[in-house]
This record gives sequence, C-alpha cells and structure tokens, in this order.
Amino acid sequence: MQSAYRVNEIFYSLQGEGCHAGTPAVFVRLSGCNLRCPFCDTDHSAATPMTADEILAAAAAHPARHVVFTGGEPALQLDEALLSAFRRAGYYIQVETNGTFPLPVALIDWVTCSPKFEFTEPRLPLRLERIDELKVVYDTTNRMELYAPGSPHLPVAPAHHTLQPCDTGDPTRNAAITSAAIAYCLAHPRWRLSLQTHKLLAIP
Ligand code: SF4
Repeated sequence: MQSAYRVNEIFYSLQGEGCHAGTPAVFVRLSGCNLRCPFCDTDHSAATPMTADEILAAAAAHPARHVVFTGGEPALQLDEALLSAFRRAGYYIQVETNGTFPLPVALIDWVTCSPKFEFTEPRLPLRLERIDELKVVYDTTNRMELYAPGSPHLPVAPAHHTLQPCDTGDPTRNAAITSAAIAYCLAHPRWRLSLQTHKLLAIP
C-alpha cells in the first residue's frame, strides 16, 4: 500500500520567482513547515492525504512537465518514492526548500534554497548537498556576508544567486526594499534580482 502525503494544494501556473520565472509549471504544495517566518504569506496548514499516484494523476491533468514541489517545507515529506514517480513520468523536478532538511538531490533537477536562518530562532543550518539556486528574501537588514563565497553557513557553493525583495504588505516599504535590492545587485553582480511576478500579474 502506498503511503499518503499531506497535500495543501496542486495548481497550474507560471513559476513566478527565481531563475525559472515565466516557466509553466504544476505546483504541488505540501503541508506543514518547521519554521515560523514573520513574513510567511503561505497558508500551508490545510492538508488532503494523497498517494504518489494520486498526486501524479492530478499533476498530469495539466500540460506542463515541470513540477515544483513547494510548501510549507516540502522536505518534511518529499521522499524517493514520490520523486521517482515524477521522474518515471518524465518531469523536470524543481524543489523550493528552506534547506534545513536533507533532500535526495540526485532525483531533483533544480534545488531552490531560500534560507530563513536570519529570520528564525534557533538558526538551523543548511543541510543540502547541492544548491542550484540560492534565493535570498531581502528586506535590507540581511547579513549578506552569510551568503558570500566560502561562508561557513553555506554547505555547498550555489550555482546561481537570486535576491528577492521581501513583501512586507506595505507598498511604501516594499518600494524602498526593491530599490535597495536593485542597488545591491548592481553593486554585486553575482546576484540577480528575483521579483514575485505572480503577484505583479495577479495570478496564482
Ligand atoms: S520557511 Fe517558507 S513556508 Fe516555512 S514559515 Fe518560512 S516562509 Fe513560511
């Protein structure tokens, strides 16, 4: 008998953020998170039990073969059985994680790690063996030296770096944060600006 995963929602949209922004993708939002970030804008508490086959069938109802496992924190549930089911079906697999739990990265095409250790106590270390994209939520108070090459806070060197303005809910403050993020990228061109385009476009 297949084990059940706690699924918050499955929906089809464009990837709004990061290096894959604009890519049509099926989003599988898994329920639950081990962190409590002050700016968290995701309701990931509701859960429907679904097997791997049921999740795959729901995803396959949409034409894209790019799946994004997100949360909450997907690494709390994401295992080889679920990832292998999507690999066998030919999916490009992206995972968005806070990085505090290990993941079977050999089964994942793209690991987006968005560390939250600046915003939560205790500061849990990153436990990933590969980071394709380091996505930092920027609110101008970040200690960017934590993400510098050779930082002891990074277990591996990320392939790509994206800086994403934090959505504070206050338009005036958001504009100031975005301006500061642009200035930071221009001064530190290792970083690429990531906008939450799905919010700008008012799509899921
Ligand atoms: S890690 Fe992500 S999902 Fe979890 S509380 Fe923080 S922002 Fe929310």
